[in-house]
Amino acid sequence: FRHAPATLRDLFQLARGHGDRTFLVYEDERWSFAEVMAAVDGFAAALVDRYGIRRGDRVAIGMRNYPEWVVAFAAVTSVGAISVSLNAWWTEDELAFALEDCGARVLVADRERVERTGGVCSRLGVRVVGVRLPAGGGQPPAGEPTVDRWEDVVEKGAPLPDVPVGADDDATILYTSGTTGRPKGAVSTHRAITQALFGFAARSAVERVRRAARAPLPDAVPDAAATDGSPAAQAFILIVPLFHVTGCVPVMLACFGLGMKLVMMYRWEPERALELIERERVTAFVGVPTQSWDLLESPRFADFDTSSLRSIGGGGAPAPPALVHRVADAFRSGSPTIGYGMTETNAFGPGNTGEDYVTHPTSTGRAGPTMQVSIRDPLGHELPTGRSGEIWLKGPNLIRGYWNRPDATAEALVDGWMRTGDLGHLDDEGFVYVEDRIKDMILRAGENVYSAEVEAAIYEHPAVYEAAVFGVPHERLGEEVAAVVVTKPGVELGVADLQSFVGERLASFKVPSRVAVVSEPLPRNAAGKVLKRELRTAFGA
Ligand code: ATP
Ligand code: MG
Repeated sequence: FRHAPATLRDLFQLARGHGDRTFLVYEDERWSFAEVMAAVDGFAAALVDRYGIRRGDRVAIGMRNYPEWVVAFAAVTSVGAISVSLNAWWTEDELAFALEDCGARVLVADRERVERTGGVCSRLGVRVVGVRLPAGGGQPPAGEPTVDRWEDVVEKGAPLPDVPVGADDDATILYTSGTTGRPKGAVSTHRAITQALFGFAARSAVERVRRAARAPLPDAVPDAAATDGSPAAQAFILIVPLFHVTGCVPVMLACFGLGMKLVMMYRWEPERALELIERERVTAFVGVPTQSWDLLESPRFADFDTSSLRSIGGGGAPAPPALVHRVADAFRSGSPTIGYGMTETNAFGPGNTGEDYVTHPTSTGRAGPTMQVSIRDPLGHELPTGRSGEIWLKGPNLIRGYWNRPDATAEALVDGWMRTGDLGHLDDEGFVYVEDRIKDMILRAGENVYSAEVEAAIYEHPAVYEAAVFGVPHERLGEEVAAVVVTKPGVELGVADLQSFVGERLASFKVPSRVAVVSEPLPRNAAGKVLKRELRTAFGA
């Protein structure tokens, strides 16, 4: 960002400069930057004039990945209101809880969400704007008796209302993925989000300088930065939900700021993604590591031209090193990237890419340039290099706290540091190694077993499609190591075979003593993360 904007409103102003260039691609729709910004202005005007939205008011967005999600988000944050991202997978009760919790004044929702609120908006006095309702007037969807239609609400030709927005005003409430419990509403200021974007941009710039200063990389490691890096030639494919931080900040907002095309997927379908990568000459994606795996495992992988890809990104969950090497081999034109980020850091955090990733395949990279990492013991004392402890992160991109949860805020934010709840260590070059979530670490007869390490060993078995490792209570050992392993279609795998395979790679106390080999996929949440708490229950734990 040449003139780093401090507020999202300023960031969106940059988008006006991209004019008629294609911004959003959704099914057979193509929206230019100018068209998106006209809709943003029109909806922002409606928020202020029609609904009386003022600075600090909450406006909730409950939709799948539609272009209107992008428009609504930009309009809400441009008028100083707080955008609340609702998880589209939530049930009626979860939606009702969040709407009441955040005190939303307006809900912008697609038909399914309008129906699923079960009338809670009418009870709470929340005004509802319905997006993509069936044409032709008629009855509003069951659920909410009074719904305004998006196309009636957006004021054609209206200018963006002139309201002051400060960098330290709240901009968003994003709910965490809810992998370990009830999702928490993470509150970010405009500055935190624009600083996260600045962090990503600064890191790419540092990476480019480092590449230029080095001898060319060997052939096997494609050099992403050597290709046409101009924004107009770049396109992101959105393979994660916009209501999670990865879809929102490093993908959607980065495209806004940099003038990149955003190819939107309604749901994750590997074959459809391959088709779109070819058709739209997609240069980058980021998702959970299994999504790269899904692409490679697609029986039609070789039918598509993926040579436009420059950056194959993963994050949000551990990436087995076996995957890194397969990705580097399969997508010869691009380099694999991994990031360690959280909702609470606006997705920014230590990142690993290019040559560093190949030489440190088990690391999630170094923190810099705007973030610090510290490894601490349970009392908060810093541990020496190499020792495992809780990962603490500090930087201008951290959330301000959790909405309505002063207890959780005080627990997580200490002296400007974020306690991540993850275990890890640093090496003497500053590379970060994420070992496990503290809640997922298995304590077996006094020995620590990191689930991610055992999963990585299981993933090396050629019959394995996916795997999850977790602890289950054991009378004598405290906990024992359990694994649920999903095989590739039509492949057999015996429990003893798998155990001896893992036993050749890891100490015997780490070998799962309870193994279930199954053929149906693992339970995952909308962020694509495995729900280990559900698997534990299935094991009677
Ligand atoms: P909740 O906090 O509601 O239980 P969540 O922690 O999954 O859900 P997110 O903010 O989406 O919600 O995810 C952040 C977490 O994801 C991190 O704290 C870490 O446990 C995990 N994670 C993120 N990136 C990586 C990575 N590269 N390697 C290993 N784990 C990662
Ligand atoms: Mg979390």
